[in-house]
Amino acid sequence: MGKQILLVSPHMSEEGFEQDFVKEAFDSNWITSLGKNVDEFEKEFALKTESKHAAALITGTAAIHLALKAAGVEKDDIVFCQSLTFSATANPIIYQNATPVFIDSDLKTWNMCPLALEKAFERYPHAKAVIVVHLYGLSTDMDEIVKICKEHNAVLIEDAAESLGSYYKGKHTGTFGDYGVFSFNGNKIITTSGGGMLVSQDKGKIEKVRFWSTQSKDEARHYQHSEIGFNYRMSNILAGIGRGQLKVLDRRVAKKKYIFEFYKKELSNLQGLEFMPENSWNEPNFWLTCIQLNGKIKPIDIMEALEKDNIEARPIWKPMHLQPFFKKYDHIAGTVAESLFENGVCLPSDTKMTDEDLKRICLIIKGLWE
Ligand SMILES: *Cc1c(COP(=O)(O)O)cnc(C)c1O
Repeated sequence: MGKQILLVSPHMSEEGFEQDFVKEAFDSNWITSLGKNVDEFEKEFALKTESKHAAALITGTAAIHLALKAAGVEKDDIVFCQSLTFSATANPIIYQNATPVFIDSDLKTWNMCPLALEKAFERYPHAKAVIVVHLYGLSTDMDEIVKICKEHNAVLIEDAAESLGSYYKGKHTGTFGDYGVFSFNGNKIITTSGGGMLVSQDKGKIEKVRFWSTQSKDEARHYQHSEIGFNYRMSNILAGIGRGQLKVLDRRVAKKKYIFEFYKKELSNLQGLEFMPENSWNEPNFWLTCIQLNGKIKPIDIMEALEKDNIEARPIWKPMHLQPFFKKYDHIAGTVAESLFENGVCLPSDTKMTDEDLKRICLIIKGLWE
């Protein structure tokens, strides 16, 4: 068996920026959720993504939860949610006691289909909010989605957990809607070991999110709470890791793109193998290189062949409307998400891979066609 290759893994800066910021936090004893790193990480993140305001939180899931709360989503409200995604996109809808309705994807983007979204508004004209996802760093067709949400007066939340460093028509993903959500979980393009960020143009809303995320303490000497609170604020230690990681984001995107191009050069002439869609308006971060298989080689064949040589590949996310927990909720139109799931594989996309590693992976895959 060869050396282990993971799908993705944390990749700290070669210079040790993260440790410098964490050391600063230790030296000043700012170990908790207050401190310079949290404030600076928010500012630097907002600058990098050209978003106006940002709140650093413990996870991307927490950011989605508070985005829904800020959007005014309450019990029995309808929230339209992209079906093809990771469950963390949908779970917070349930935390708010609201009702998800799952929306199919568009083959052209792999993300929310604008036509299906229109259909959804016909069935549920008063839906409160829409959550779109920029899956695997591919951007949704935001012009269409923004237009439809405006027409129907729905709050737009972008789950950009996988798309830090991805642009749509030159503008950073996560900055088109009312709220944008990012994740620094261990598998994402940069990581704080665990963490999230909520961005918005609305200063008041972001201030409110910071308030909720620190237990909703009213301004009083005694402990007083007029609203329900959450313990969702990012710690100063983790924000230090984030500041260091942010410095190498461009480098990571460049390597991810290199990995994608490498696979494309080696594998694109294999019969029935197609790469994820490329659109002229999309500058992806290539977080994961994903393929579709429409010939006699199936996703399981590739995953098993790689596994035998200690290499990790994974299926595409299983759509939410097919999940046992979410099955009872409505689903709007089509089988695109389902077919992307059934025919899809995520190839190893770890930025620490060498050319030798990539060649080894491609050799195994090509072997299946011989
Ligand atoms: C990772 C991820 C999340 C959740 O982020 P956490 O920081 O792990 O809570 C949400 N949505 C998508 C699409 C993700 O990939």
